[in-house]
Amino acid sequence: MSGLPTHGVRDLIVVGAGGAGLYTALCAARDGARVTLISSRPLAEANSYWAQGGLAAAVADEDSPAAHLADTVAAGRDAVKLSAARVLTEGAPEIVADLTRLGVTFDADREGRLALGLEGGHRIRRVVHAGGAATGRRIVRQLSALAAEHPLIDVLEGTPVTAILTHDGRASGVELRGGERRLGTATVLATGGAAALWARTTNPRPAVGNGMLLAFRAGAALADIELMQFHPTAVVGTNGTSQADGFLVTEAIRGEGAILCNRAGERFVDELAPRDEVARAIHDELLRSRATSVALDMRGVDPGLFPNVVSHLRSVGIDPERELIPVAPAAHYMMGGIATDLTAASSVAGLYAVGECACTGLHGANRLASNSLTECFVFGRQAAHAALAEPALAAAAAAASVSTSTGPPPPLTQASREALWRDAGLQRTGEGLARLREDAHPLVRLIATAAITRTESRGAHKRDDFPERDPAWDHEHVVLTPGSAPAREHWA
Ligand SMILES: Cc1cc2nc3c(=O)[nH]c(=O)nc-3n(C[C@H](O)[C@H](O)[C@H](O)COP(=O)(O)OP(=O)(O)OC[C@H]3O[C@@H](n4cnc5c(N)ncnc54)[C@H](O)[C@@H]3O)c2cc1C
Repeated sequence: MSGLPTHGVRDLIVVGAGGAGLYTALCAARDGARVTLISSRPLAEANSYWAQGGLAAAVADEDSPAAHLADTVAAGRDAVKLSAARVLTEGAPEIVADLTRLGVTFDADREGRLALGLEGGHRIRRVVHAGGAATGRRIVRQLSALAAEHPLIDVLEGTPVTAILTHDGRASGVELRGGERRLGTATVLATGGAAALWARTTNPRPAVGNGMLLAFRAGAALADIELMQFHPTAVVGTNGTSQADGFLVTEAIRGEGAILCNRAGERFVDELAPRDEVARAIHDELLRSRATSVALDMRGVDPGLFPNVVSHLRSVGIDPERELIPVAPAAHYMMGGIATDLTAASSVAGLYAVGECACTGLHGANRLASNSLTECFVFGRQAAHAALAEPALAAAAAAASVSTSTGPPPPLTQASREALWRDAGLQRTGEGLARLREDAHPLVRLIATAAITRTESRGAHKRDDFPERDPAWDHEHVVLTPGSAPAREHWA
């Protein structure tokens, strides 16, 4: 049991069925809440399904939450909200135990202890995984099955939420496509990230941040949306195999000894440095050499450790046991999102956000590898706990709730995706960002506004016109609130 207080039956709306939404729903339901779990896509088709490396947790004898915190802070480039990172690192070991109780089988070593992977920025092996690099798939399948069977969870699949409902300034539920309404004492958004807004990405196409827009339209603040993490090693499509383009080759493979080389066959970066550093070194190398990719050499790595990566690469014509893999950075993880506190509450009463759509501030300006799955679960539990303590809806709410819809956003065009990649990619200029503010897509315009506001370079955000990190921006976050000018907030 979660140790949550006992409640009467409450109705909770959870939007999104990736790791964050599934776990939030299960935590709330086992505490007696009635949950409506709504997903625009079938269960087991979320981004979480594709997560490879695993989830970070200090479970090794020689590790500790304090050491995990120190690595998270170092990777985050003086922008990590310490209190949030502490919640994550202290809560992570219990999450691994709970997922195990829920039936997820993590990989073990020969002695039966958890097998732990190493990824960039971690000074110690602490990445718990399942099925080699099939961690997301294993977790999502198991949690989806539990949610589908749970008598208190009503699952609506293939049902996009089009607006948040409000009553007396509080979120009171959601509106579904077609106009049907679902009311709840609390609404939790777990709608995932926005990396597929960029033309080159590791993310499936639906990851375009629509939950962030839903929340913004309902009055919620967004934070740090200029901070997009670029993964260093996404395959560059070769031999006309567009299927391969953007396929992520997990950092855990570099943790097992894979190396990066330039055209001349020379190493040019510490492969296990934090992601911003490795991605930027590759970007600079590509500019210098005018090549479109660098080579990832995993010929010395046991292919049996990463069966699904190896079989996918083979299916697109690359034999990683004998050939070099062409890779380059791609948009991967939105560190910003709906601004939330330590209980996952947004700035709108009754509205929560968890997982990649949220911004707790814990990733700072450069997420530490494998902290995002952990975040989905640790903050999912926080959200379930806090949401269940919300006051019941007023009797009048059902009839009097107001939709915050302003109509469907214009469809995302390839032109917007390419503009974002060009003007808000690994290298940005004030001029390019100003151009982006005229884009047809509202979230692209908001990202440009946030990026213009951050007048420095830090972590994932690099501006040619402000090339240095500015200490005056340490622990400062760019917050966008509907109807207000962009603000800077200091988060500790
Ligand atoms: C290839 C890849 C590998 C990765 N590997 C790792 C890793 O090893 N470790 C790690 O920590 N992180 C990894 N990540 C990042 C991590 O997978 C994500 O950050 C995390 O899974 C996000 O989970 P989520 O539950 O927040 O969102 P998602 O898993 O993206 O789920 C979002 C859900 O919201 C639903 N939804 C969205 N909008 C609506 C709407 N309007 N109405 C209804 N439903 C909606 C979707 O259908 C979906 O069910 C990886 C990401 C990718 C793409």
